[in-house]
Amino acid sequence: MTYPNVQLYIDGKWRPAASGKTIPVLNPATEEVVGTVAHAAKADLDEALAAAEKGFKTWRAVSSLERSKVMRKAADLIRERAEKIAAIMTIEQGKILAEAKIETLSAADTIEWFAEEGRRTYGRLIPARLPGVYQMAIKDPVGPVAAFTPWNFPINQVVKKLSAAIAAGCSIIVKAPEETPASPAELIRAFADAGVPAGVINLVYGVPSEISEYLIPHPTIRKISFTGSTIVGKHLAAMAGQHMKRVTMELGGHAPVIVFDDADVESAAKIMVAAKYRNAGQVCISPTRFLVQEGVYDKFIKQFVDGAKSLKVGNGLDTSSTMGALANDRRITAIETMVQDAVGKGAKVATGGNRVGNKGYFFEPTVVTDVPKSARAMNEEPFSPLALISSFSKFDDAAEEANRLPFGLASYAFTKSAKTATAIGAAVDAGMMSINHFALALPETPFGGVRDSGYGSEGGTEGIDAYLSTKFITQTGV
Ligand code: NAD
Repeated sequence: MTYPNVQLYIDGKWRPAASGKTIPVLNPATEEVVGTVAHAAKADLDEALAAAEKGFKTWRAVSSLERSKVMRKAADLIRERAEKIAAIMTIEQGKILAEAKIETLSAADTIEWFAEEGRRTYGRLIPARLPGVYQMAIKDPVGPVAAFTPWNFPINQVVKKLSAAIAAGCSIIVKAPEETPASPAELIRAFADAGVPAGVINLVYGVPSEISEYLIPHPTIRKISFTGSTIVGKHLAAMAGQHMKRVTMELGGHAPVIVFDDADVESAAKIMVAAKYRNAGQVCISPTRFLVQEGVYDKFIKQFVDGAKSLKVGNGLDTSSTMGALANDRRITAIETMVQDAVGKGAKVATGGNRVGNKGYFFEPTVVTDVPKSARAMNEEPFSPLALISSFSKFDDAAEEANRLPFGLASYAFTKSAKTATAIGAAVDAGMMSINHFALALPETPFGGVRDSGYGSEGGTEGIDAYLSTKFITQTGV
C-alpha cells in the first residue's frame, strides 16, 4: 500500500499549508522517507481558530442526540477502514499490525461510548429557599479546545480528547504528531465523512512549540488538553495558567509492579511480559519498576526472562513479528544510555540490552535486575522495552519504593490475598492501580495521573466533565 501525503484539515477542507511547506515522515522499521505532512504556520492557525470559533457556534446548537448519531457513523467508518488505517499506523509508528488494528478498533468503541455519554450530561435542580423559585445547575460545553497529542498511540491519544470534546458540544483544533501524522488524519477523515459540520474539527501539524505558544494564549481557545512528557506538560500548564485556561494533562509515568510472595507468579509474569513489551514499551502506563518479594524473586525473573526471550522483534508489517520497531531514534539512544548507566552502577542484564540489526530502530526486549536506585532508569521514564527488576522484603518497603518517584500514573500488584490487595491499593499514590490483571484505559473507566503525571481524567464520566462547565441559573415568575 502507498503511504499518503498528509494535509491539514481546516474549516471542512483538506488542504496543504498556506506556505506549501511540508515535513518528511519516516518509517522507523526501514528509516526511509515514506511521505510528507503539511507544516502549518500562523496564517493556517488563524484560519483554524476562526473555523473553531464558527464551528463551536454551529455544534453547540446541535442536539446531543444528533451529535451522537454523527459520532456513531464515524465509529462505523473507522471499523470499515480499520485494515487500511492499521497498516498506515504500522508504517509510520513501527508497532506491529495486530496492535495497530486493536488501537484502531478500540477508537471506534471510544467514539461510541462518548457519543452516548454526551446524551447524559445532566445538570440538576436545587431546592430553593422561596416558593416559585427554580434553581438550575446546567452543563455547557467549555468552548473551542486545543489538543496536543504524541506519537506513541497516534489514534488513541487523539480519539479520547476529540470524542469527549465533541460529545460535549465543543469544537477542537488537534495538533497531532508530525512523526505519525497519517493515522490520526484517517481518524479525523472518518468524522468529516460522517458529516461533522465544517469548523467543528480542525487538524494541524507543524513545530509543536510554535503552535502551542500561539494557540494556548489565543482568546478563542478555552480549554487545553495535552499528552506527552512531564517537562513539556509543566511548561504548557504554566502558559495555560497565565491565560486562565482549563487544562487536562496526561503526562509521564514510571509504573511500579509489586509481586508478592503469594502471587500466581506464572500468570503475573505472562501478563506483565505482554504489557511491558506492547508498543515496544513506549506507553505511559508501561509496567517499569518490578518489585518482587524475596521468596519468588528468582522464579519471577526466570518466567519473565523466558517470556521476553520468546518475543520476535521485526518489521510490524510482518505478521510473525511480536514486537516492532521503536518509533524514533531518540528512543534507541535513551534505552542504550539507560542500560549502560545501570550496568555501570552494578545492575545485571538478564536478557537483551542491544540494538537489533543495522537498519530500523529495533531493540531487544531487555530485562535488567538488581538495579540500584541511583540508576537513571530507576528515576526517569525509560519509554522503551526495558524492564527493571529488584527484590523487596516487607510490604512497607515495596510501598515506599512504589511512591519514591514524583510520578503517579499507573501501578500494578499481584497477590492472592484480598487483605494485601486492599492494603496495596490504598498505599500506592497513583492515579490507577490494576491488581492481578492488566485492565487500564477502557473508554468507560477513568484514566489519569496524580503529582508529576498530571491532572484530569480521559475516560469515564470524568472524561467528558473535562469539556463541560457548570452554569447556575435561578429563575422566578415575573
Ligand atoms: P518531547 O518531550 O519533546 O515530546 C513529547 C510530546 O510533546 C511530543 O508529542 C511533542 O510533539 C510534544 N511537544 C513537545 N514540545 C511541545 C511544545 N512546546 N508544545 C506542544 N507540544 C510539544 O520528546 P519525545 O522524544 O517526543 O518524547 C520523550 C518523552 O515524552 C518520552 O520519554 C515520554 O516520557 C514522554 N511521552 C509521553 C507520552 C505519554 O503517553 N504520556 C507520549 C509520548 C512521549
